[in-house]
Amino acid sequence: MALPPRTRDQVRAERWMRLALDEAAAAPATGDVPIGAVVVGPDGTVLGRGRNRREADADPTAHAEVLALREAARTLGSWRLDGCTLVVTLEPCAMCAGAIVLARVPRVVLGAWDEKAGAAGSVLDVLRERRLNHWVEVTGGILGEECARLLLDFFAGHRRSPRAPGAGPGDDDGAPPRCSPGPPPGFGA
Ligand SMILES: [Zn+2]
Repeated sequence: MALPPRTRDQVRAERWMRLALDEAAAAPATGDVPIGAVVVGPDGTVLGRGRNRREADADPTAHAEVLALREAARTLGSWRLDGCTLVVTLEPCAMCAGAIVLARVPRVVLGAWDEKAGAAGSVLDVLRERRLNHWVEVTGGILGEECARLLLDFFAGHRRSPRAPGAGPGDDDGAPPRCSPGPPPGFGA
């Protein structure tokens, strides 16, 4: 069966997602979970890039999205990222979704959904919370299988190595996100 033709928007979103995937692929070099993000300006220029650097920087807030937003704001000389699109390989967490709202980013393109911690519709929906003053358009599942595969392969490799020192018995940090290429139930409703 022939696949339906991809729209121009889809082709463009996939091109951007490849850049985010390149960022993600570089994260394991520092022992970091492979998540990557880019911020693209209204004319399609890449304004900021980021990858998860939580281990590299020993910083709980060094998530790909936050780093990409910061770089884009520096590039523009403005905290407001009007007209920009944030592209990220995994559904943003609550902190990153909050930062996206604060930066007034109008659109997010994401790869895999994170059923365990996602705040773009899976666990919470910070990006489309009607009580907040800014709503974000969300396009999900762009190269979702590839984005999820990168994460699952990373954690499969980790499970074969000894447990990180300092990880407690109830510590969930060695577990992969429950990623899924499909949107959470009720998304788009
Ligand atoms: Zn995050």
